Amino acid sequence: MHHFHFLENTLLCEDVPVKEIAAKVGTPFYLYSHATLKRHFQVFSTAFSGIENLICYSAKANSNQAILRLFADLGCGLDIVSGGELYRGLKAGFTPERVVYSGVGKNTDEIDFALREGIRMFNVESLVELELINDRAGLLDKRAPIAIRVNPNVDPKTHPYISTGLKKNKFGLDAEAALDGYRRAMQMEHVEVVGVACHIGSQITEADPFEEALKSLKAMILELKQMSIHIKYLDMGGGLGITYADETPPPIEAYADSIIEQLKDLDLTLVLEPGRVLVGNAGILVTRVLFRKSGSVKNFIIVDAGMNDLMRPTLYNAFHAIEPVVNSHKELIVADVVGPICESSDFLAVDRSMGSVDGGDLLAIMSAGAYGYVMSSNYCSRPRVAEVMVKEGQFHIVKARENYEDLVRGETLPPFLEA
Ligand SMILES: *Cc1c(COP(=O)(O)O)cnc(C)c1O
Repeated sequence: MHHFHFLENTLLCEDVPVKEIAAKVGTPFYLYSHATLKRHFQVFSTAFSGIENLICYSAKANSNQAILRLFADLGCGLDIVSGGELYRGLKAGFTPERVVYSGVGKNTDEIDFALREGIRMFNVESLVELELINDRAGLLDKRAPIAIRVNPNVDPKTHPYISTGLKKNKFGLDAEAALDGYRRAMQMEHVEVVGVACHIGSQITEADPFEEALKSLKAMILELKQMSIHIKYLDMGGGLGITYADETPPPIEAYADSIIEQLKDLDLTLVLEPGRVLVGNAGILVTRVLFRKSGSVKNFIIVDAGMNDLMRPTLYNAFHAIEPVVNSHKELIVADVVGPICESSDFLAVDRSMGSVDGGDLLAIMSAGAYGYVMSSNYCSRPRVAEVMVKEGQFHIVKARENYEDLVRGETLPPFLEA
């Protein structure tokens, strides 16, 4: 459920016509619906209310300050994968004890930052990382709360670039290595074992992979119990998929009920790291048609947003629905919707059946709230686009569009090139 809908052929975000925002802020821009974000968090949080839990929104899905603040205010925690995300999270109002830290490549500065702030838990992904955290905690006179990220070797049946829980993936440790890690951690002076974690992939649209992963985590927790290692937090990660086209992911309630059912006789706090499911369908990318061009075998619709603004189609061959911002019911055409970038992989849609458009028309690239702006770049010296949030009848720019000066900020000429 989201708050983008048509009224008399005009796309609205909550109560605001998208075309009016476009007229004021220019294009392209990302547009987020406050009511949708809030509702998604509340549905998620209500679904898990039957069990002790800490819901940690995964910052990397969309880390705009306004979005982080909104979730912080709703009582959400934060899942981070970098020092930069910790900085953003703290600035947006998350307290460190609501932060969990995942990622295969945490560096010393990042670990120190998280130790000083006193985050809830490090999700450790290798034995060398465990050693490093212990060493750094010793130097800072701290005790680091840790979970080991277990790789349960389940196939999440998603795109290979976003499956993370298979033996061949770089993430986590397999069960045996994890047990070894726990044994070692128990001998370490400056770490405290508090959890078991996993995250098996993203855009998962079936229930089975989660159930399988949970089974192996439970088995791990029972095995640890026999070794007198008491686990407080079971971190199921994120990964619940959304509908981009015709996918039918398990409803949040069903996903929650099956997890709760399996955990009801364990005395644990459940940690979850939802990203996409909270923000994906709460945002769109609005772009303007520049030109129409007919090749001998294809129709091209050239728009002012490119792969540098929304990378998912290029990176994962991802499908995003495309809607006209003002629907004038023109004849159907089949076309590639492409950007201005000098790469053939610069497309937003391929062979898409859609209503015909003319230069100047506005298009909405739907379901762009997750892994959209955060993955954007300045490739081809294109200033990053604006981000806008609507709440009820008002819109607010939450990230200004970059300008040309922003493009060269921080660049300096070495002395041998100065005049
Ligand atoms: C990316 C990521 C998430 C969020 O994944 P979604 O598919 O967006 O829910 C959660 N946990 C970890 C460790 C991640 O890397």
